[in-house]
Amino acid sequence: MRKPTRRRGTSAKGSSGGGISKAATLPAKQMVLSGYRGTVDAFDCLPDDLVLAVLAGIAARARCPADLAAAALPCRRFRDLAAHPAVLSRASAAAVAVPAGRWSDAAHRFLRRCAASGNLHACYLLGMVLFYCIGGRATGAALLARSAAGGHAAALYALAVVQFNGSGGDKADKDPRAGVALCARAAWLGHVPALRELGHCLQDGYGARRAAATGRYFLLHAAARELVSSHCRNGEDDAASRFMVEWWALPSKTGAQGDGNDADADARLCSHPRCGRRETRRHEFRQCSACGSAIYCSRACQALHWKRAHRSQCAAAASRWLAAGNAQ
Ligand SMILES: [Zn+2]
Ligand SMILES: [Zn+2]
Repeated sequence: MRKPTRRRGTSAKGSSGGGISKAATLPAKQMVLSGYRGTVDAFDCLPDDLVLAVLAGIAARARCPADLAAAALPCRRFRDLAAHPAVLSRASAAAVAVPAGRWSDAAHRFLRRCAASGNLHACYLLGMVLFYCIGGRATGAALLARSAAGGHAAALYALAVVQFNGSGGDKADKDPRAGVALCARAAWLGHVPALRELGHCLQDGYGARRAAATGRYFLLHAAARELVSSHCRNGEDDAASRFMVEWWALPSKTGAQGDGNDADADARLCSHPRCGRRETRRHEFRQCSACGSAIYCSRACQALHWKRAHRSQCAAAASRWLAAGNAQ
């Protein structure tokens, strides 16, 4: 009962003090406590460091890019501070996950600013977008390398896929050993598709000495982790994959001829519907040896798609092919 009485007393005293010039000299906390309702905004008295810390916290917990944009809306000062590297570098993966349907010059600039401030999620997403979707493979690869060097597991796996396929170069540029090393690092950081890929490589002796038992052990672990946690979808269902799947499904991109290069004209998408990677040259991806109609950027994509859908599709395609062969 005593506290409200005290606040009323303080409020009356503050109101009687009246003038804006006096209120403006009060610290923000005092103005809030005294119930001052003049034209001076209490936030103007907060030091930049404090506002930056609050905005950085909001950016780190943002669930979508709109959350960060909403935090910057109240005034020009907030907008300026929200673009500070101290805030952008802390932005969460969801905060920089620009949807493909809303891609624009402004979105590109936003991701570039985040990447320049050292945000590894932005480096990864922008790297994938540049490498596979809008052109600029050298810059994209450099951004992926920067993100991977910072310990971003999805970027490490993305570079592994690039090395396995020799993406952006010739068939001779394939480097399975480098791919396995990158996969091992990503798997060690908890990336499930990388663990699955590593298991297949060890089973087949691709890029590493054959170790079938260890390979099976890794594959079992990857399958178990997928079953135990529905959240273990990073890599196949991450922001970059979502962007690429959505990007190639856009009406303007369906049936598009890539960047206009002859090499892109016959490029196809990975048959795993949640992957979104597109060939960077003809016949880059491995194809299903049974039907020959499905192609995959990686063993992990092939194994997942086989388990979830292609097992039945491939059987149907194979029987159609056999029926056509018998009819002739
Ligand atoms: Zn794929
Ligand atoms: Zn098949």
